[in-house]
Amino acid sequence: MTDVSFDASTPLARDLAALTSRRKALGDVEVPRPADTRVFTISNQKGGVGKTTTTVNIAAAFARHGLKVLVIDLDPQGNASTALGVDHTSEVPSVYDVLIDDFPLEDVIQKSPEADTLYCVPSTIHLAGAEIELVSQVAREHRLRTALDEFVDRARKSKEPWDYIFIDCPPSLGLLTINGFVAATEVMIPIQCEYYALEGLSQLLGSIRLIQKHLNPTLELSTILLTMFDGRTNLANQVADDVREHFPSQVLKAVIPRAVRISEAPSFGQTVITYDPSGIGAVSYLEAAAEIAQRAPSRKKVRK
Ligand code: ADP
Ligand code: MG
Repeated sequence: MTDVSFDASTPLARDLAALTSRRKALGDVEVPRPADTRVFTISNQKGGVGKTTTTVNIAAAFARHGLKVLVIDLDPQGNASTALGVDHTSEVPSVYDVLIDDFPLEDVIQKSPEADTLYCVPSTIHLAGAEIELVSQVAREHRLRTALDEFVDRARKSKEPWDYIFIDCPPSLGLLTINGFVAATEVMIPIQCEYYALEGLSQLLGSIRLIQKHLNPTLELSTILLTMFDGRTNLANQVADDVREHFPSQVLKAVIPRAVRISEAPSFGQTVITYDPSGIGAVSYLEAAAEIAQRAPSRKKVRK
């Protein structure tokens, strides 16, 4: 009987060899600390496209390189808080208290058990009401921005600056998402390679333009990440080609494949970076993070 795993001509053997060499290449990759804190909002008004998965895994990838990383969970569903293994039951202080009651971020932040330098501002069920409560608040679009600017500043002054901050947004373009856009300097859009993705994108790009014009002129769409990619289907390849053609400088070369381990990790309160550290999911997210680190923001970000 032949053992197919030792036959280098089988697709499985080729995949394994490719993964091994990608893993090796990652070992040599430099992930430099950014010159200043980079703040990303991860946005797409469609649900289920991989926003939360991308947020927590990119964050964990940077933390694995020892960078100081914060995830702000701005989705009332709290999936990022779950994946990062932080307590987000209803009595826990959360991003709700920051937005509505002016709590400083230091009062609600928690360390994730995923890594020593990875932190999370959890969301709780109370955030579901914030979308409505914010409507009557003063400076309702700037609540997170104000809190975040002060927080980033204090960390800088205490000589323990944040390297990366990622804001995980809900699948809508309401006031929570707008707070994310206003607080960030860069937008990252995950695009699911499984349907004609460009169609939904124009609405999102229109919203980003409006935010740039009226609320946050330094916001930049810097990064697009193709997720849940299945290279065996024509549709996935066609979507990827189309997106690359429209956004040649924003789309990362790294692509996140559809992988069972990626979807399993959150049920263990983990990211795929710790759940399956040498698998294709972790390798792909580590590649994406390395690429983000090597692309400095295109213009000087002046936050104030
Ligand atoms: P969003 O935050 O945009 O709603 P999620 O990140 O929660 O999307 O992803 C939606 C679902 O798809 C989740 O069940 C998640 O585990 C799964 N998923 C995300 N990325 C992948 C992937 N690359 N491979 C397999 N499943 C994935
Ligand atoms: Mg989500």
